[in-house]
Amino acid sequence: MVNIKKMDRKRCIECTEPIYGRSDKKFCNDSCRNAYNNKLNSTNYNILRDINNHLRRNRRILQELLGEEKMTKVKRHKLMKFGYSFQYHTHNLTTAKGHDYTFCYEYGFLEIEEDLFLIVKSKDKKEQPKEKNIAIEKNGEQEPH
Ligand SMILES: [Zn+2]
Repeated sequence: MVNIKKMDRKRCIECTEPIYGRSDKKFCNDSCRNAYNNKLNSTNYNILRDINNHLRRNRRILQELLGEEKMTKVKRHKLMKFGYSFQYHTHNLTTAKGHDYTFCYEYGFLEIEEDLFLIVKSKDKKEQPKEKNIAIEKNGEQEPH
């Protein structure tokens, strides 16, 4: 008869061999720990890379559609045709007028009517807080000029 059932013994989370020694150990040896951590890191790396690829492609699509224009209107199906991924964006910006823009880096869009988007390029970053200040002034106690 054995005291410890084999199934109860902790197993290495990399190779599943039983672990001997301290009960808080997760790996049977250093090489298993390294192998496991390397896999984990590469998984994290892949997640970041995939999201970054979507964002970069979205940015490039908006950039190409906008060209040298200040703003341009594009139908949803055209964006889809270029491979735009609507679920990926970097940030949102609500203007003083209450328009809610979705941005991929410096390029953004506003849905102006169903399936029709206005594409814009954000101006100098210094100008963005200005818009927010206007919104605050309007809602706050300060009189508009
Ligand atoms: Zn192991």
